[in-house]
Amino acid sequence: MNVMVIGRGGREHSLVQKFSESEQVEQVFVVPGNPGMQDVAECVAIDEDDHDKLIAFAIHNEVGLTIVGPEVPLLEGVVDRFIANDLKVFGPTQAAALIEGSKHFAKRIMEKHNIPTAEYQAFSDVTAAKHYIEQKGAPIVIKADGLAAGKGVVVAETLSEALQAVEDMLENGQFGEASREIVVEEFLTGEEFSLMAFVNGANVYPMISAKDHKRAFDGDQGPNTGGMGAFAPVPDLGEASYTSAVESVIQPVAHALVEEGRSFTGILYAGLIETKEGPKVIEFNARFGDPEIQVVLPLLENDLVQVIADVMNGVDPQLVWSEETCAGVVVASNGYPGGYEKGRPLPDIKGEQGTFIVHAGTALVEGVYVSSGGRVLLAGSKGMDLAHALDRTYDSLRVFDGNDDFFYRRDIGRSSVSSSSGTNVK
Ligand code: AMP
Repeated sequence: MNVMVIGRGGREHSLVQKFSESEQVEQVFVVPGNPGMQDVAECVAIDEDDHDKLIAFAIHNEVGLTIVGPEVPLLEGVVDRFIANDLKVFGPTQAAALIEGSKHFAKRIMEKHNIPTAEYQAFSDVTAAKHYIEQKGAPIVIKADGLAAGKGVVVAETLSEALQAVEDMLENGQFGEASREIVVEEFLTGEEFSLMAFVNGANVYPMISAKDHKRAFDGDQGPNTGGMGAFAPVPDLGEASYTSAVESVIQPVAHALVEEGRSFTGILYAGLIETKEGPKVIEFNARFGDPEIQVVLPLLENDLVQVIADVMNGVDPQLVWSEETCAGVVVASNGYPGGYEKGRPLPDIKGEQGTFIVHAGTALVEGVYVSSGGRVLLAGSKGMDLAHALDRTYDSLRVFDGNDDFFYRRDIGRSSVSSSSGTNVK
């Protein structure tokens, strides 16, 4: 079978790598992909939002399965278009993807179906929003309703920061259409973790837990980014919390979407905070997390094509997970998530001795890899526990030492290392 992945980042590199390992796959196409994927997939120069060309390509090249990496094409309805053309695609329709596309919609679903999350109110009026914030006090969290490339959340430590965020979003149109409405929600404290699941309607097959590191700098300092490193599974997450996240969040939200006439097929992602009262939702995504998937897929022992086929056919895919832990650290362009320069040559990093390299923002110029984005690549490794996986990963990153064009966090997973010799929770 030929398979096609839509997207160009690290998440998509991970996916094409996994598909290329399947005995059922003849050819992997990635649209548009990046040069780091060329040894496992054929990169096809079509933009993710050119649905007509994507469909024509899939038909012409007898693509038997398409999977969509990023959220924007999902919310533009690319899956609906593929279905209308009788093409097999694993991803949510536009209606189902709204669980990611509108924070207010996601909140309404959670409220209606008793899914644990932060207390909130939604606003499109500045005065009403400010009044509510003054009543509630800081810290408080302000979120643009729509997609804002991961930048639409302000965790305000002070009242004035919160009021400023309201003005920026509602009055000054900071995120355009996406911030015509905002969600103001209670600040939750606790450890964050992510849980992704293969979903088809009410059938839910959860993956192992993972943890991302959103802030740019060590010690969780600096601005939020797309994610600076991840590991899986989360060693300090108790079995009870994992089960509770599956049973009180993932399963009910899949049921809720079916009930709402927005049945979800694809990857459902819950961003969670482990509070004193148990896991609570901070966001839903309608696709694989990046960089979480880069550390989860290497631990999946099944053939991914077979898993997806089973899920789509209503058969339990019987997921099998390695006993190991996988860690990954993102190398970013200096200045990211603010302004940064592109075209900087990368040192020779190949992923030797059990480590692997996932390309995100790279380009190939005259045979040399150079940077072409904020998050440039992820170096990762499996190990018998988190400490081992991190040691190998950080060893491979030494080639970046003394290189001012790039930076990476030195403390990925550090706070969880002490408990990593415990039992892995699947
Ligand atoms: P999101 O884009 O919704 O994942 O939010 C980005 C980051 O903001 C999350 O990874 C959390 O660190 C933080 N965050 C979001 N919502 C809350 C909340 N209700 N309480 C505390 N932190 C939050």
